[in-house]
Amino acid sequence: MKSKLKKTSTPVMRQFWEAKESYPDSIMLFRMGDFYETFDEDAKIAAHILGITLTKRANGAASSVPLAGFPYHALDQYLYKLLNAGHRVAICEQVEDPKISKGIVKREVVEILSPGTAIADKYLNSNENNYLCSLYISDDKIGYSILDYSTGEFSTGLCHNIDLLNIIQRFNIKEVIVSDRQEKLIEKIKNNNIIVSNYKDWIADSKVCYDKLLDHFQIRSLKGFGIEKDDLLIIASGAAIFYVENNFFGRIKHITSLSKISDDNFMRIDSFTLKNLEIFKSLSDSKGTLINSIDNTITPMGSRLLKYHIKKPLINKKQINLRLDFVDELIKNKKINIIIREELKMIADIPRILGKISTNKFNPRDLINLSDSLDSILSIKNVVLKKLVKNKKIFKDLNNTNKISKLIKKYISIDAPVNIKNGGVINVGVCSNLDELREISDQVNSWLVNYQESEKKRTEIPSLKINYNRVFGYYIDITKTHIDKVPDEYIRKQTLTNSERYFTEELKEYEDKILNAKDRIIDIEETLLIELVENILVDIVCIQNNSKIISEIDVFSSHAYLAENHNYCKPVIKNFSKEIRLKKSRHPVIEQLLPLGEKFIPNDLDFGYKNKQIGIITGPNMAGKSTYLRQIGIISILSQIGSFVPAEKAEVSIVDQLFIRVGASDNLSQGESTFLVEMNETANILNNATKNSLIILDEIGRGTSTYDGLSIAWSIIEYLHNNSKIKAKTLFATHYHELINLANELSDAFNLNVLVKEQDEQIYFLRKIEDGGASKSYGINVAKMAGIPSYVTSRSKELLEDLTQNKKQSNLKVSKNKIDLKQIEIFDFKDEILRELKNIDIESLTPIQAINKLNDIKKKL
Ligand code: ADP
Ligand code: MG
Repeated sequence: MKSKLKKTSTPVMRQFWEAKESYPDSIMLFRMGDFYETFDEDAKIAAHILGITLTKRANGAASSVPLAGFPYHALDQYLYKLLNAGHRVAICEQVEDPKISKGIVKREVVEILSPGTAIADKYLNSNENNYLCSLYISDDKIGYSILDYSTGEFSTGLCHNIDLLNIIQRFNIKEVIVSDRQEKLIEKIKNNNIIVSNYKDWIADSKVCYDKLLDHFQIRSLKGFGIEKDDLLIIASGAAIFYVENNFFGRIKHITSLSKISDDNFMRIDSFTLKNLEIFKSLSDSKGTLINSIDNTITPMGSRLLKYHIKKPLINKKQINLRLDFVDELIKNKKINIIIREELKMIADIPRILGKISTNKFNPRDLINLSDSLDSILSIKNVVLKKLVKNKKIFKDLNNTNKISKLIKKYISIDAPVNIKNGGVINVGVCSNLDELREISDQVNSWLVNYQESEKKRTEIPSLKINYNRVFGYYIDITKTHIDKVPDEYIRKQTLTNSERYFTEELKEYEDKILNAKDRIIDIEETLLIELVENILVDIVCIQNNSKIISEIDVFSSHAYLAENHNYCKPVIKNFSKEIRLKKSRHPVIEQLLPLGEKFIPNDLDFGYKNKQIGIITGPNMAGKSTYLRQIGIISILSQIGSFVPAEKAEVSIVDQLFIRVGASDNLSQGESTFLVEMNETANILNNATKNSLIILDEIGRGTSTYDGLSIAWSIIEYLHNNSKIKAKTLFATHYHELINLANELSDAFNLNVLVKEQDEQIYFLRKIEDGGASKSYGINVAKMAGIPSYVTSRSKELLEDLTQNKKQSNLKVSKNKIDLKQIEIFDFKDEILRELKNIDIESLTPIQAINKLNDIKKKL
């Protein structure tokens, strides 16, 4: 870089190289007049990502430099693309008025944006948090700290080395920061679409960070946050504060507290489980996600909190019941919930507005929205407190924020423009100075109208007009046809093809007055805005508290709405290692997605006690095994976040960990051997599950050959059954028939199967789970239904019979008979035509269609 700082560069380019030297890892957006420009390597990257033209800029005697830029007002449209592509961006602004600067304009970097800290609306998704994760590693333990700069939410915790990736995936971390020295320790998590940033090694010191946190939060000790002695947490959190403070030049007032994350108090759900249950993301495009099926929250912060709850379900019975009781009361008082939901619609994204205010990125509309939101919150409080009998506390805890809301309404005009520079933001009556200036400006305006009229008369030029532009200021515009009538005292300013532009002494005087007044008006308005914002920030904690409570109310209101509209029931919560009993339970996503006319078949479950520790579920492919297993996992999560569940009756034992593993099928993951992945995931369960866990295994062992797979499945079940340290509640779905015998032998295992009906060689899925093992596997029937040629299915039937009689693969005889294609074709056609006839809905056919159909069939023969 240094070599490029050649003396021969132009002064502006020298200024650029100097700025760039301090931020080598960031793409620099360099403000030049009305444009943001990028240079050199940055320009190549920006041109590629943004689809803008790459040109060259002459750089004095030094060689020319690649350049790409865009207009300053399009910043939002371009910035988020750079961030999405995983880049850091440094914004270098002109920090003095070009009109008054001598020589080149002074420029400074005013902000460094990165994927984990950016707050541009376009970049953020309002229903999702945007997290940065700061790390400090010591031996096998890691202090981590999670910060959403856009909302100010900040928390910290301790994890084991092996859990790091899990945390990163669970919270969808966009950026990780780690000290220079420790960067090599996190090689593993790189490549996960995460940008890694560094902090200086001197920061990684508990004393330095301790002091930083005290200073930032203006407190005397960290006892209140519960991390007084946790050096790893202190360093991780302190480093995060250093990082954003540095990148945003101190604009971090909205980060007002730090909460301690303790995984001990929550159900552990690893990222495989989140993935396999399709909670936030569907494994295929066509299917829905749990979050889409259950999220009826109205505010963005409510939606974000619901996601957080799902990632961290409770394990304390009392706390779960507190939530359930609140939901219950809202269901029983439907009218109250309707009122709450109506008011919630009026509440904006308060944490992000506060974030914008604290970082000086707000516009007047944001303030009006904040004030309206605060009013709506208080009206919820007033109405609900009168009507609700129980669960009043949460509403009582809402702070009175009338003072702030009134202040905003007093200052900000309802018609305030989005851009502060347009003026008219502050109400009349706030500042007498401002009002006077506005009066002057109004007077001069009417003077202008009068002046135009009188000049028109005097000169007898009907088309005479007074106009304004930014370069020339005010001028009198006269078309060429009337040029001979122009009075002598008019002074020519500019000549155009069809007209001439003039000014007069009087007009010039006016111009000075009006421009002066306008500038001063904007100045005063800006000062008043800053004053207002400072007043709001004094009460920021109070507003954040209300927003937090509102997001909780929103979540519970959403649960109530869901339960009512989809017939969910209140689960009875049982302690650890008790039974799970479900009556007529459903899968919340599949039941909402079934095509019209198809009904979801509900199913029961009764297990989790002596003799019924491990359920082995057999049944053919497509019978409904996976759906059944997943619905049980989902019901367990829903119960523990305090939601009602899709069932007629539910008694649910709290579980400490939920594991769902699905046997590899080739399309699931690429790269690593799918079977290896499957076994890795399974090993993780066998090493971590406790007797309080719920383990759901779906076709584990499928990823390898039959005998391997069967043996592995067999021994896993034995291990879970015989190991007194685990003995976790387990459900195991399999199409290996042989496992039925295993359940018969092991005292605490039992068989379940999915009913199918067989008729005329066809099978019908009844989707009903019943006790006992499946009588046969129906694989060949399913193959036939799928359209496998009949030669193959009938030959498999023969082989199956041989196999079941001889029980040995080596005894099978290979058929070398030539296949008579014609015969097969006729055979297959017959099947196809029969199917076609069966599917005809005679009622809906017109006579013509019937004749056509007959014709089609005949043609095929
Ligand atoms: P398996 O795991 O036994 O192969 P799945 O659970 O994948 O079967 O179910 C196959 C399909 O059957 C699902 O995609 C769903 O559309 C349907 N299905 C499953 N269970 C039910 C049910 N209880 N009621 C209605 N349809 C169901
Ligand atoms: Mg399945």
